[in-house]
Amino acid sequence: MQLQLPLPELAQLTGTAPPTPSHRIFCNRSLRLDQIEWIGFDMDYTLAIYHQQEMDRLSIEATISKLLDRGYPEALRFMPYRTNFPIRGLLVDRELGNVLKMDRYKYVKRAYHGMRELTREERRRIYDTHRLEPASDRFHWVDTLYALPEVTLFAAAVDHLEQVAGTCDYDALFSDVRECIDRSHQDGSILDRILADLPRYVSRDPHLGETLHQLRSAGKKLFVLTNSRAAYTDRMMRYLLDDAHPQYKSWRGYFDLVITAARKPSFFTDEAPFQEVREDGALVATTKLERGPIYAGGHLALLQQALQTTPDRVLYVGDHIFGDVLRAKKQTAWRTMMIVQEMESELEAHAALRHSLARLDALEELRFRLIDELRFLQRDYKALQKRRDAGATLSPAEEAERVRRRRAIDRLKARIRVTEREHDHLELGVDHRFHPYWGSLFKAGPETSSFGHQVEVYAGLYTARVSNLLWYSPMHYFQSPRDRMPHELHP
Ligand SMILES: [Mg+2]
Repeated sequence: MQLQLPLPELAQLTGTAPPTPSHRIFCNRSLRLDQIEWIGFDMDYTLAIYHQQEMDRLSIEATISKLLDRGYPEALRFMPYRTNFPIRGLLVDRELGNVLKMDRYKYVKRAYHGMRELTREERRRIYDTHRLEPASDRFHWVDTLYALPEVTLFAAAVDHLEQVAGTCDYDALFSDVRECIDRSHQDGSILDRILADLPRYVSRDPHLGETLHQLRSAGKKLFVLTNSRAAYTDRMMRYLLDDAHPQYKSWRGYFDLVITAARKPSFFTDEAPFQEVREDGALVATTKLERGPIYAGGHLALLQQALQTTPDRVLYVGDHIFGDVLRAKKQTAWRTMMIVQEMESELEAHAALRHSLARLDALEELRFRLIDELRFLQRDYKALQKRRDAGATLSPAEEAERVRRRRAIDRLKARIRVTEREHDHLELGVDHRFHPYWGSLFKAGPETSSFGHQVEVYAGLYTARVSNLLWYSPMHYFQSPRDRMPHELHP
């Protein structure tokens, strides 16, 4: 039998090792990069990394202006808000005005009303009596960085309106915030300001040109598939890539196909026609896709046909679980890589907390062991106690044993309490280091968070930024850690 070259083991050796954890690409599902013929990229928050705080402030200002037009009190303009409050993966409870973080089983692990954290008891009373149905109209799932200012604004306005008016229609408020922010995106209140001052809002990755060039040099073809419109895409891509590499005068040189205004996720399911965007902005219907023009609209089947390869040889890189990664996975056999720009701070916290995290694990294990031990002691103690209660006379040795066990139980209970206190105290500090309000993006207590779970299930690969591909050979063999089920770990 002839060996298939390059050998995966060799491919592994050719890449330069990533310099730091934040440059690493993580793998949920094994992927051989040498088998990939096309790599597609989303633009916003994927190729273009936005400065989150600046974007948040811009979106919030634009949205508040529109809320005032709808009759909200002028004072909203001066209310305090915290752009560092939300993270991705939160759920807005439109009925009660709360913001929730869930674990992978959809149990609420943290909750805020306005900017006040609900106590464990409040949380349990409201949410633990039934399993949440995040897909219902009552809840709104926050899964893009675009949507974070909605949460910031909603939480701040809940506090403000309750304080000023004493009441708040949470559902109406959330609808208004959503609509006003959408309108701000559509009418240019946000996009025009971004284009007018790109360096303020967008971080230009100095390695992006080299990264794309390295992939092209290895024979990969590249495409852009973005929801942004052609004119905005062109301005943004010029800023990101024009003059980024001596071999490419214009950003267009890197890409074999450019599709704008794609309306993902419906791009993956509906059958909209493709249009060619002429230089003067005019749109002309077309069914043929080729290198050169910029296209608008379209749908998956036609694009797949133009790629002239099988779907499993396409890798799509995007930042949006639902619009990019989940649909690509469900509707096609495209492989996926998710850009999670929060990885950088997440990994930093992880490294800084290494010892605390190990201690937390140890304390959790200790607690389990102590509880186990307690159960044994209690069982033996109860047997003696039961006989005593039934009127039997215990021998002196048995009585001594009964008393000894009673004391051991008390000591054990005290030890469990001490362990739990240390654990809770440490966990609070750990969570706070990850994020002051919500803890780690990927975890909810000892469980994976609901966001982390989605990344695990839908993203084949995930990493902080596109240019991390530069540290890997274009033939790299990404290997997922071998999956083990609980019965394999602890037989
Ligand atoms: Mg995007």
